[in-house]
Amino acid sequence: MIGGGVAGLWTLASLRQAGCQALLVEGFRLGTGQTIASQGILHSGLKYSLAGVLTAAAREAREMPALWRQCLEGQAYPNLSQVQVSAQAFHLWGTQSAGSKLGLLGAQMGLKVTPKSVPTAEMPELLRGCPGTVYRVNEQVLDPASLIQGLAEPLAESIVRVDPQTEMEFETLGPGRVRQVHLHAARAGLTQSLQPKVVVLLAGRGNAGLRDRLQLDRSAMQLRPLHYVLLRGDLPEFHGHCVDFHRTRVSITSARDSQGRVVWQVGGQISEVGVAMSSEALIQHTRAELLSVFPALDLTGTEWTTCRVDRAEGTTATGSRPDSYRLFEEGNVLTGWPTKLVLAPQLAAEVVRRVGRVVPLRGESPAPAFSLPGWPRPEVARPAWEEIRNWVSLPSEVVRRRAA
Ligand SMILES: Cc1cc2nc3c(=O)[nH]c(=O)nc-3n(C[C@H](O)[C@H](O)[C@H](O)COP(=O)(O)OP(=O)(O)OC[C@H]3O[C@@H](n4cnc5c(N)ncnc54)[C@H](O)[C@@H]3O)c2cc1C
Repeated sequence: MIGGGVAGLWTLASLRQAGCQALLVEGFRLGTGQTIASQGILHSGLKYSLAGVLTAAAREAREMPALWRQCLEGQAYPNLSQVQVSAQAFHLWGTQSAGSKLGLLGAQMGLKVTPKSVPTAEMPELLRGCPGTVYRVNEQVLDPASLIQGLAEPLAESIVRVDPQTEMEFETLGPGRVRQVHLHAARAGLTQSLQPKVVVLLAGRGNAGLRDRLQLDRSAMQLRPLHYVLLRGDLPEFHGHCVDFHRTRVSITSARDSQGRVVWQVGGQISEVGVAMSSEALIQHTRAELLSVFPALDLTGTEWTTCRVDRAEGTTATGSRPDSYRLFEEGNVLTGWPTKLVLAPQLAAEVVRRVGRVVPLRGESPAPAFSLPGWPRPEVARPAWEEIRNWVSLPSEVVRRRAA
């Protein structure tokens, strides 16, 4: 297996549990790319049914949070009881337009998780004064770094860090027909040649380059660029979406950085319209959006930055966003994209099913770990707010919308 984001790690766990010996090769830090950048929301499908219809994306997602909840409680495999749950629920509210009210009504259709209106006395201070009803939605929010750590730790001996360009070579018999994989650990002076029955590519956007090397068509993948915003300072910890008709106008999740400051990650529409904007323009736009959706928000002393990241997804026939995970099978190569963090277990289950056609699986008795002793192990990726150095403060005259 190649790629140790949420998809690769969950799949490694599932293959091990099904009795299959698997090795995961990570090229950088675990979760680099999308998983570490994700907002960690375990979507139940609500976000995808805001237009008032139960979409295919909502149908795919709606069964998933229950499985995650069991794993997070240590009641199902993989045991994620060590993973940090940043919030057990988040808030959802609409702008004043009639459209957004319809959207909120539509959101209550046919899903396992339905929004419950929050009485004023229980409302976070930040949402006081917001127009319309505020809802509470029992969708959990995870800390992505701790998720990666929690998945990887029990599997550590089967995960190696190998530079994909200089330390990994494929020997193929034709497109998608891998005969051997040669791995090197240059610094440790180690070499290993493997004859895998199946090669599983779960490397996010890295799948394109790997497919090139295996003479497979790179058009199986589409990239969706995003440009999201981070702000830190004296902010309340908050998790919520403000919806405007069927769109998520802003989507906010919070974390604490290593200095103990609250950091807000702001996505939703912001990260899509932001793609065409400079960092400065996006910060100004986000500031205006936040002050518009939170009448009581005080941004004094906050520092801001932005981040660009691509979502990597499997292509669909129409070029639209996939509703579910995508998995392609060519020769003895499987290539997958979970589409959403929350769908990683579904993708993993399908990989196990396909591998089971080629390799006899031992059912419920887990396989002994496939391990390469002495090989370098990858670290876990660090959140963007720990890596980025260029944060800017807002000029004091623009901190509040209404200075006078
Ligand atoms: C800003 C943002 C917010 C999101 N929020 C949510 C959310 O709230 N809820 C949700 O369900 N989904 C969310 N998603 C989607 C979710 O993050 C992704 O669907 C999911 O993380 C993809 O996981 P992955 O393992 O396929 O890829 P990645 O996380 O990108 O992992 C790929 C792994 O492969 C490694 N790799 C890359 N190239 C190579 C190579 N050549 N050789 C070896 N290793 C390689 C990388 O280092 C990395 O470890 C969000 C995505 C983004 C970008």
